[in-house]
Amino acid sequence: MYKYAGVIVNNNSIQVDKVFTYAIPEKYRKIIKLGYRVKVPFGLGNKRIDGFVVSLFNDFQASSTVKEIADTCEEYSLLEPKDLELIEYMREKYLCTYIECIKALLPSGVTRGMRNKINQVIYVAKKLEGKYCKEPYDSLYNIVFNNNGKFNKNEISKKYQVSVSSINTLLKHGFLTNEEIIINRYNERNYTEYKENALNLEQLNAVDIINNSSDKTFLIHGVTGSGKTEIYMNLVNQMLKEGKDSIILVPEISLTPQMVERFKGRFGKDITVFHSKLSEGERYDEWLRVKNKNVKVAIGARSAIFLPFDNLGLIVIDEEHESSYKSDSDPKYSAVDIALFKCENSDAKLILGSATPSMETYYKSKNKDIKLITLKNRADNALLPKIELIDMREELMSNNKSMFSKRLFEELENSLSSNEQSILFLNRRGYSPFVSCRKCGYVFKCDNCDISLTYHNENGSLVCHYCGMKKRATNICPKCGSKYVKYFGVGTEKIEQEVNKYFPKARTLRMDFDTTRKKNSYENIYNTFKEYKADILIGTQMIAKGLDFKNVTLVGVIAADLSLNLPDFRSAERTFQLITQVSGRAGRGEKHGKVIVQTYTPDHYSIVHSASNNYEGFYSDEISIRKDMNYPPFSKILLINLSSKNENLLIKSIQNIGYILKNMLQNDDKIEMLGPCPSAISKINEQYRWQIILKGNIDSGIANKIKDIIYQTLKEVYTEIRVSLDINPNSLL
Ligand code: ADP
Ligand code: ZN
Ligand code: ZN
Repeated sequence: MYKYAGVIVNNNSIQVDKVFTYAIPEKYRKIIKLGYRVKVPFGLGNKRIDGFVVSLFNDFQASSTVKEIADTCEEYSLLEPKDLELIEYMREKYLCTYIECIKALLPSGVTRGMRNKINQVIYVAKKLEGKYCKEPYDSLYNIVFNNNGKFNKNEISKKYQVSVSSINTLLKHGFLTNEEIIINRYNERNYTEYKENALNLEQLNAVDIINNSSDKTFLIHGVTGSGKTEIYMNLVNQMLKEGKDSIILVPEISLTPQMVERFKGRFGKDITVFHSKLSEGERYDEWLRVKNKNVKVAIGARSAIFLPFDNLGLIVIDEEHESSYKSDSDPKYSAVDIALFKCENSDAKLILGSATPSMETYYKSKNKDIKLITLKNRADNALLPKIELIDMREELMSNNKSMFSKRLFEELENSLSSNEQSILFLNRRGYSPFVSCRKCGYVFKCDNCDISLTYHNENGSLVCHYCGMKKRATNICPKCGSKYVKYFGVGTEKIEQEVNKYFPKARTLRMDFDTTRKKNSYENIYNTFKEYKADILIGTQMIAKGLDFKNVTLVGVIAADLSLNLPDFRSAERTFQLITQVSGRAGRGEKHGKVIVQTYTPDHYSIVHSASNNYEGFYSDEISIRKDMNYPPFSKILLINLSSKNENLLIKSIQNIGYILKNMLQNDDKIEMLGPCPSAISKINEQYRWQIILKGNIDSGIANKIKDIIYQTLKEVYTEIRVSLDINPNSLL
């Protein structure tokens, strides 16, 4: 029994990012444990807010009167002791606040105080004898019976088009009563049972190594279609037999119905699927199912790494190279780091899987920090597709001005005539990414961002892909009034239009952000293509991963250089990964696949090596560049980004910080400082952006010192300037 508790309060301000001491009233001393959520009076007004108990102690020299904990929230710890360790680790490593870490660990419904909304209120209609009903209540009352007397407010209001206020009136007059019941919102849909494949030799060997080695972290480097998923399922099965829990992370984008079906088909109700499309209530339900030990397996996107399993035996991170495993809002954590931390502090094993491992991970496997397992062949004996590079400069020389090379054109025709399917990949949505006036050179840009607008043909609008701003497209130049406004460049919409022009009989489908916004639209496109109701699927990186269509024999990469031209040290790596992944969609059935890669830089090493399926070759070229340039994995990068509507204040502040850091680092030859300078995208959403990049041997100690300096410097202007600190960011733009 302790008298005092260290409490982290649910308040986002960096100034209160510390542990506050509260006295525990006598009546709560037997109840409150570490990780409890409590109500505490906070601030001058003693407003009651949520707090989390992170320490308990008896000795405390109070300098002034200590406030008391006012109440408890649940009768159990939301956070376990090992979660508290994780929170400390994350705050140090990702330069964020305690409460941001806690919020990452808990479902948002809890921390937003929405716990009461999580249970659904169900209304029960009762016949009240002798009461006279007037319209419209008469009919409403009748509708509610048709529903066994029980219904949920929103449901009934939608279904029968009665307003919520009519329902409220019914309640008020006593024609309805209500009761609260807990409803499990998880998907009850039954999935077809998934037939287990007997593992082949390469797969058996992998499982054997994982089971019998003393290593705890493994990298399965297996070509696309080598049967990695089958290995994961086998390992999960073993865990179930041993009574241990498993987490399988897949990128949000490849958490496809197909993937879910495979896992649900195999593990049934033992599994929870955890992704960002769940509603707040559903997330809470799933979290609680794990907390209550009703589930033993989770498959999910990045945040599923935090699910509160207490007997973890296995974490799998599929497509470990995916940038979506790194969060770009606070805490800017990497799920791979979190998994490593969790495994180090338990007996769980960590399996990273990829056809194109990240430079960081492969480097670790070369240094024997991670055990490498290689799968060289496709599981069902299918051959890897043949990849052909097309130099688009030569196409232009031979007077082909279209976006399809002669070879791609021929192969599309071939595949159409032999009733096979094709995939066309271009990592840019919309119709044209650049609109300008040919007479005066005016470029249509976003009003809020320093970004050119993309023309979308479908709704005739110009759209900013950063802030979402939308305008009607016009043919008149707003600057000179001429009619010479022209659309430059190609996006997926335009590809689809061109395909329809050249191949009028082909049935096309498009899968990108714009066509998959509505619920189930992804699933619909997916099933249409799977059931062979379309010939050509056109899409962005959404189609590059995970999809397993047996009838696809041709993949066309329209512009391989798109990702190469970004000013980012990872652009070569990203290009290699994308080409390899999208190529992997071809020839997964009995027929051999072909890939046509169109490029303006056919000699670039990332393109050459992806065409010859040579990961090792790419790795050795890229790692030597990383070493020469002192980029990760040889260094860490800390991106300091400041943004503000007040440009002058922003520049003054970041120059101030730059000056202090420069002085501090002048005798440190291990850390290099670039900037301050405007970010590559110098304005987003009306906020001007400037940055400083630090590169080198940045340990947690120095990083936290820098963090303190920055917040100290900005103390006076804190409300006007936003700070983002990012260790090894996904992008330097
Ligand atoms: P990866 O995850 O490495 O891309 P998958 O696990 O998706 O590969 O497997 C690719 C295809 O091979 C799937 O259709 C899967 O059903 C099939 N497959 C996997 N393992 C086997 C096996 N041992 N025998 C036959 N088919 C297999
Ligand atoms: Zn003009
Ligand atoms: Zn914008």
